[in-house]
Amino acid sequence: MGGALALLALLSPLRAKDWDIYTLGGRQYVSDENVAKFYGFERFAKQDDDRIFKHPSLIMTWKIGSESIYVNNIKFNLSFPVVENGGMAMLSTVDLAKLVDPVVRPSYIRKPIEFDTVVIDAGHGAHDTGAKGPYGREKDYTLDTSLRLAKALQARGFKTVLTRSDDTFLTLSQRVELANRYKSAIFISIHFNSSGAQTSNGIETYALAPQGTRSDMGGSPWNSPLTGNISDAENIALATAVHAHVISDIKAVDRGIKRARFNVLRGINKPGILFEGGFVTNPGEAKLINDPAHRERLANSIADAVVRFKTAVGKKK
Ligand SMILES: [Zn+2]
Repeated sequence: MGGALALLALLSPLRAKDWDIYTLGGRQYVSDENVAKFYGFERFAKQDDDRIFKHPSLIMTWKIGSESIYVNNIKFNLSFPVVENGGMAMLSTVDLAKLVDPVVRPSYIRKPIEFDTVVIDAGHGAHDTGAKGPYGREKDYTLDTSLRLAKALQARGFKTVLTRSDDTFLTLSQRVELANRYKSAIFISIHFNSSGAQTSNGIETYALAPQGTRSDMGGSPWNSPLTGNISDAENIALATAVHAHVISDIKAVDRGIKRARFNVLRGINKPGILFEGGFVTNPGEAKLINDPAHRERLANSIADAVVRFKTAVGKKK
């Protein structure tokens, strides 16, 4: 595991100190120094445009001008870029509240969810084949991986619900409606990626974009609250747990933890993520994805991550 999931274990004591909020270009920001102090990072270094925050089990790096940050080498896309102000690197308060805080200390999530059930959503189905690769179709890979994930989760003591357990077609709203019937549950949608460029590869994990922020899939900042936004903190913590664990386990290329307003995430009334387990259009990854043993590894890795997530959000301090 190395440090990849240690970020879920960082529980530095809360400092009774107010945030200094700066307004720049109409948006609110906090400074690098304020973040370092608030979370009690033992070391904080500035190197040109880079900022490095160190704790025994966690390293976070920012870069002025960048649209992403790294926590324990896992890439997180920001809602707004890091900006410079008087020699300080500034992070938007949205990214502080919706990304850094739930990732760095998930046990502080207010009223953390208690769950015993995982709703597993195998992407696509029937005439909706999804991505097509040289060895097979996304809809078959998502179904097989989802069935394996259900078994793996059951073996770890969870109840599971599948939105589909065979080659049938479901609309996105049917998937959401089904998932929303279960109370103490989380939601994981399984997909595989495609690209016109055969070189595209790696794993990416999506959480719903918070209100007032942009989506990695384009579009302007969205200002209406969505049902899925009630779980903003849990969404990013769950995405972090799954993404970091899988990247570390199967040594995949890290495409980052991203934000989007996919229909399947917008209406979900519980913590939910959409996981893209590699590119069926990349020759190397397509071969792996076509291998049942690889899909079994993926399923077990996601299941282990769910166990970690449950422990992380359940911990109180
Ligand atoms: Zn898909």
